[in-house]
Amino acid sequence: MNQLLTDKDDVVAGFFRPEIRSMQGYVPGEQPQGSTFVKLNTNENPYPPAPEVITAIAQAAGMGLQKYPDPLGTAFRNRAAAVLGVPPDWILCGNGSDDILTIVTRALVGPADRLRLPYPSYILYRTLAQLQGAQSEEVRFREDFSLAGEFSQSDPRLKLVFLPNPNSPSGTVIEPDEILQLADRLTCPLLVDEAYADFAECNCIDLVRRNPQIMVSRTLSKSYALAGLRFGFLIAQPEMIQFFRKVKDSYNCDALSIAGATAAISQQDWLRENRRKISFTRARMTERLRKLGFSVETSHANFVWCTHGSRPVQPMYEQLKAQRVLVRYMNYPGWGDGLRISVGDDEQSDSCLAVLESIL
Ligand SMILES: *Cc1c(COP(=O)(O)O)cnc(C)c1O
Repeated sequence: MNQLLTDKDDVVAGFFRPEIRSMQGYVPGEQPQGSTFVKLNTNENPYPPAPEVITAIAQAAGMGLQKYPDPLGTAFRNRAAAVLGVPPDWILCGNGSDDILTIVTRALVGPADRLRLPYPSYILYRTLAQLQGAQSEEVRFREDFSLAGEFSQSDPRLKLVFLPNPNSPSGTVIEPDEILQLADRLTCPLLVDEAYADFAECNCIDLVRRNPQIMVSRTLSKSYALAGLRFGFLIAQPEMIQFFRKVKDSYNCDALSIAGATAAISQQDWLRENRRKISFTRARMTERLRKLGFSVETSHANFVWCTHGSRPVQPMYEQLKAQRVLVRYMNYPGWGDGLRISVGDDEQSDSCLAVLESIL
C-alpha cells in the first residue's frame, strides 16, 4: 500500500461492488439529538406509547437477555393474528418495516430485474433496488395521485411492485378494489406498504386472502408510537412467508421489541383513541393551512402534504427551522416540491402554524 494519501478514496472505492459505489444511499429525515425542536419531519407519533408497552419491555429485560430471542416472534404473531383476523403463520416479524421491505426485495429481485414503484413515493424503495443491482421503474402518479395505467402493465422482467397506501408524501389512498384489480393484471408480487393504514379508513389485509401475489407490510413506528423500538411485520400467504424466512436474519427481532410489540398490538383501545386525536388535529391543521393559501391534499395518514400556489416553500422550511420547528422539505425532480408536515399534538401544530402565519 504505497499509494499517495489522495489515492486512498479510489483504492477504498475499488473494494466495493459497482452498484454500491454508484448509489447515493438513503438519507432519512433529520434526527437532531437532545435539542429543542418541535419535530414534525419524520411522522413520529406525538404521544407516548401505551404504558403496558413499557411494563412489558421492562419485564422482558429482567427475564434472561443472555438467551437468544424467539426467531419467529411467536408471541407477537399469535396476538397480531387474533387482532387482524389472519392465522399466525401468515405473519413475518421484522426489525421495523424497513427490514420487511429489505427481506422481500432480497428474496424476489435479482440483478438486472425490475422493481416498480409509484413516483413520488417512499425513496427507500429505489435504494433497495439499487442494492440488488436491479432497475427501479418509477411510474408517475397522475396529478391527483391516482395510479396511471402504466402502473398495472405486466412485464416479464418485473419481479416486485411496491405501493405505499396511504402514500407518502401525499397522504392519499388507492381504494382496495383498485389494488385487487392491479394485482390481477400483474404477474409478480405486489407489496402494499401500509405504514400509515391505521390512520386511514381502508386497508388491504382482506385482499391477501384473495390473491397470493398481494402482501401487506405494517409498522409499529407510526400508529403505535414505537419508532424507537423498531418493529414491523408482513402479512402474506404462508407459502410466501416460508420463503421469506429463509432470507431474514435468524434473530431479526430482539427480545425487548417482541415483548413491546406484543403488548402494543394488544392495546386496541389505545390505538383507537390515538387515531381519534391525530385525525382531529389533522383536520384542524388542514383547514388552517388551506386558509393560509396552501394546497393541502386530503390526508389519510399522520402527516399533510402542502404546496403553495404563489410562494416558494423552501424558504418557509428554512424559516420554520430557524424558529425551531422541523418539517420535511421534499423536492421531487420532475414533479415539484412541497412541505410534508407530521401531525403533532395540538400545541406542536399550533407552533408550526403560528410561524407560517407570521411569514405569510
Ligand atoms: C415510516 C415508513 C416505513 C418504515 O417504518 P419502520 O417500521 O420505522 O422501518 C415504511 N414505509 C413507509 C412508507 C414509511 O413512511
